Amino acid sequence: MMHRTRLYIDGTFTAPGDNRHFPAVDPATEETFAEIAAGQATDIDRAVRSARRAFYSGAWPGMDGKQRAGVLRRIAEGIRTRLSEIALLEVRDNGKPLPEAEWDIGDAAFCFDYYADLAEQQAIQPPETVDLGDPRFEGKIHREPLGVIGAITPWNFPLLMAVWKVAPALAAGCTIVLKPSEICSLSCEVLAQVIDAAGVPPGVFNLVTGTGPDAGQPLADHPLVDKLAFTGSVATGRKVMQAASAGIRTVSLELGGKSPFIIFDDCDIDKAVEWIMFGIFWNKGEVCSATSRVLVQRGIFDRLLDRLRTAAEAIRIGPGDQPGVKLGPLVSRVQYDKVRAAIDAGRYSGARLVTGGDRPAGFDHGYYLTPTIFADVPTDADIWREEVFGPVVCVNPFDTEEQALALANDSAYGLAGAVMSDDLDRCDRVAARLRAGIIWINCSQPTFTQVPWGGYKTSGIGRELGRAGFDACFETKQITRFDHKEHWGWYLDAPD
Ligand code: NAD
Repeated sequence: MMHRTRLYIDGTFTAPGDNRHFPAVDPATEETFAEIAAGQATDIDRAVRSARRAFYSGAWPGMDGKQRAGVLRRIAEGIRTRLSEIALLEVRDNGKPLPEAEWDIGDAAFCFDYYADLAEQQAIQPPETVDLGDPRFEGKIHREPLGVIGAITPWNFPLLMAVWKVAPALAAGCTIVLKPSEICSLSCEVLAQVIDAAGVPPGVFNLVTGTGPDAGQPLADHPLVDKLAFTGSVATGRKVMQAASAGIRTVSLELGGKSPFIIFDDCDIDKAVEWIMFGIFWNKGEVCSATSRVLVQRGIFDRLLDRLRTAAEAIRIGPGDQPGVKLGPLVSRVQYDKVRAAIDAGRYSGARLVTGGDRPAGFDHGYYLTPTIFADVPTDADIWREEVFGPVVCVNPFDTEEQALALANDSAYGLAGAVMSDDLDRCDRVAARLRAGIIWINCSQPTFTQVPWGGYKTSGIGRELGRAGFDACFETKQITRFDHKEHWGWYLDAPD
């Protein structure tokens, strides 16, 4: 019997209201292996109302931060206990290689531990007292949990992207309705089981799976949601922001990118090749911060491109659960067709296809694609300007630092950027001038929970992770007290 997922609403695992489901497809085999609960507006409404009640009841937001931290640590432990199971589920659902999935799930567990620490620190911090410049008044600044968070997440790191929102929100005392991507929902059901087992009170965390139009949009539109926390494409982000603006609700958007990687000619070419590969082929290039536009200083351009091609052609492709596989199938038929279309457009743009762009030999089913490199790409071509979200990299030459920066910053996006050089002063200079929220020096992609994550320009609004991700889950309240024996006296001399 095929596994059927359930929603998690008000502390209970339940079928969707109209008992509809849709298939979860294994991208390595193209076979259906589970059925996902198709939540609808009525399920979203039940979940949001439950989160609202749980918030107003005060049981979770009013709980001492130390106690909340204890619950979060139990969630972290629960994820670690089931790490292999969740990782295999993500391999099946998403296609990523197993070691990458294991890394993601380990990170997800750590994220709960990290925010548990912040919840504990917050609990012992008294409200800030502010000198108001008038001795008759006392000013205090309190931070209060923001309320009900509507979290909408993508499929590329199915559990981790959800946890980046759920862990800080729970730590801050908020309540949540999570709507994961319909393409990869399974690991979030396990998250709900772990959260349930950790003793989180009913209604504090709710899971409603379903499609964007049927479940995502009703969540974005729901008037009882205080904040929308969204990760996904720019096109959907725009809709979520419109819904937020209609209700004057806070919104955070983690959107796409077309991030540059500037390689200077004084660096070690082998190291450069390794980081370029990691920057675009890790997670099949289905990474918002993928460094998909590589700029190489002309002196080493041909040599580097040659080595990059050789290394890319040597990547082991296959199902994510096979040992040694470094590139799994793309996540879905839709994504596969989108990436193939982008490659075709790249070919017609006049860019030089150095390698890849095709189904690998020996794979007649599954959404497999060879690592793809374009060089000498016209900078007005879509393949240079638009996010592909697949293992496709563009490599262009540059001459001067100034020129590299101009090319790098010439983008509607500003999520990430990377620079590689043996001259660390130059790296710092370039890092300061790249218009992006995340900069890597002499590497690309390693991501740490402790530092804020988010983009400039159309790559988003707000920050997740780090202390910033925690602070984003609070409202700020000023309390001003009149603390004086005398009357205020404003009307005492008023004429009759
Ligand atoms: P997507 O925008 O198609 O979907 C994201 C989520 O939005 C899904 O849960 C989907 O069901 C939901 N959704 C769709 N239509 C909706 C609507 N009308 N109202 C509300 N919700 C709706 O994105 P995707 O294909 O799942 O993910 C890939 C994109 O995510 C890429 O552009 C990538 O760059 C971006 N991403 C960004 C980050 C980041 O941190 N900046 C991280 C991961 C992915």
